[in-house]
Order: sequence, then C-alpha cells, then structure tokens
Amino acid sequence: MKLNTNCKSFVLDFGLKQPNLFLDSAGDFAFFSHAHSDHIKSNVKHVLTSKPTLSILKSKGMKINFDIIDKKIFEKNGISFDLLESGHVLGSRQLKAITEEKSFVYTGDLNVNGTIINPPAEVPTDVDELLIESTFAKPTYSFLDATEVAQQISNWVNSNLASGHNIVLGGYSLGKSQELIKILNDYNNICPVVNDSISRISQEYVAEGVKLDFINSNTQEGHDALSKQFVAVLPQNQVNLTLKKKLTEFYKRSVKIAIATGWASSMKFSNYDEAFALSSHSDFKSLLQYVQEVNPKKIYCNHGFSTEFANYLRRMNYDAISV
Ligand SMILES: [Zn+2]
Repeated sequence: MKLNTNCKSFVLDFGLKQPNLFLDSAGDFAFFSHAHSDHIKSNVKHVLTSKPTLSILKSKGMKINFDIIDKKIFEKNGISFDLLESGHVLGSRQLKAITEEKSFVYTGDLNVNGTIINPPAEVPTDVDELLIESTFAKPTYSFLDATEVAQQISNWVNSNLASGHNIVLGGYSLGKSQELIKILNDYNNICPVVNDSISRISQEYVAEGVKLDFINSNTQEGHDALSKQFVAVLPQNQVNLTLKKKLTEFYKRSVKIAIATGWASSMKFSNYDEAFALSSHSDFKSLLQYVQEVNPKKIYCNHGFSTEFANYLRRMNYDAISV
C-alpha cells in the first residue's frame, strides 16, 4: 500500500491486489470522509462512506449513481478498512486501511475535541502512516473551548434581543448551522427560523438522535415566527449587508448579523456586526496532541498550513512532509 499524490488528489495504491482508493478525490473507487461539497466528487463508481454522510448527500438532492461499498467485502483480500469518528460534522469519518505490510490513516477534516453536538475524533492506534489535514495547523490558531464560544454567542443574542433587534446567524449549512441551532436551543431557550437546506440537513441530525428544535421559514409556523421578533440561522454565504438591509426594510425592525467560523480567531469580519470563532476543525495544539497520541512512523500533511505543520513536526523528529 502506497500513498500517491498528484494534482491535489490523494490515492491509496494497493498494487495489483485491489483497485486504487481515491481519498475525497475523483476516481472509480473513492472514500468520502464527509458531506461538505469540497470532499464530494460526482464522477465515481464505487464509494466507501458512512451511512449519515450518504443520507445527507441524498437530502441535498445529490443523485446517487454509485455503488456503496461495504468495507467488509475487502477483508477477504487481505485489506481491511475501518471508518472512525472524525468529530467534524454528522457522519464525518477518518479512514483506516490495513494491509499485511502496514496501516494507514486519512483523517479528513478533523476535530479532536468534537463540537457542541459532535463527539470528539477517535484516536487510532497502531498507525504506520498518517495523512492529516492542517487547516489551522499554525501555533497562532488556538481556539477557546466550544462551550465558551457558545456562551459568547448566547450572551450576544440575548443582549441584542433585549435591544429590540432581529438576529441572523450565519454558518455552513452542514455542521455549523446545527451547532448554532443547538446553542440557541440550550443556552437561550430559542427555537430559530432556518431555511430549507438547513432544515433538511438538521432533520438528518434529528434522525441520528441529536435533539434540535428549529422552524422552517417556508411553513405557516415560519411565517408566524418571522412576523414577530426573530432569531434566524442561515447559510453563511447568504448572510451579508444586502440581506441585512432587505430584512430591516421588510420587517420594519433593525437586524444584527453575525457569523461563526474558526477564521474569526485571526481575521476581522468587518461586514458583520459580530464574528464568533466557533470552529469544527482542530486548532494547532489539538492537532499536535493527536499526532503525539497516534505516533505514526510517517506523516503527510495536507491542506491549509501543511508546510508549516510538517516543518514543525520535523523539528520534533517526526518523519513529516507536506503534500
Ligand atoms: Zn468539512
């Protein structure tokens, strides 16, 4: 088994024994770590993924024209695959591939501490080679505990409601939006209004046992909720100054907008009233702790600050490269 990288695609090459496995990359046989669009490819024939990821893809309207591979069918050929929680969003998994000669882990997007609704990533053992994501793998990225950020969001929402504003929070439709709904439910006792796409994905969380209360804006209940002072959660790319102006004029009430993203820990988001550093990825020290616990013989760093992270790991005497 060997990791091949070219043109930003990652391929596990099993030699003649099996077809190559494309990791969040396009190829006949692919592993989808989770349902964020940058990890999903359309031109694949056979896919290894988790059940919740498959359900989310269907709920997003993706036409599933590939076979779903049961990981057990490979065991008889001397290769086994294991899917481990990655802590990032519903259904996100790390891949562990084991052959007679070595074991390999691909983290996908990783959250070692978990989110307010996702369990933490599992830490795999007996790993020879590790391909790890490095989105925030720079010492300057250090995140507060998710519960502390949740409290910040809750306080901001309460104070702006008390001042008479409507509130719109923005986050990715998958993952961050459900975290925001959960915070509003549990910290503020508020049932937010959401759009269709967030409602559909949130239903998948509910189906997997996550308690979330929300109102779809395209229902009578949604129209009623919007006719009073409201808190809404919308996809991040829809929350902007234009929307703020439109909503203010339409509902005759001033609006405060905020987004939730890990990048808010280092960047200014001046087009928003507030930006909260709520991340569904690990910060630098959590990634480092994960590497130390897994203790692989060889490390490949990809995405984000991969060069910086590999340099840092080499100074700690790991065999690490950026790919
Ligand atoms: Zn992701």
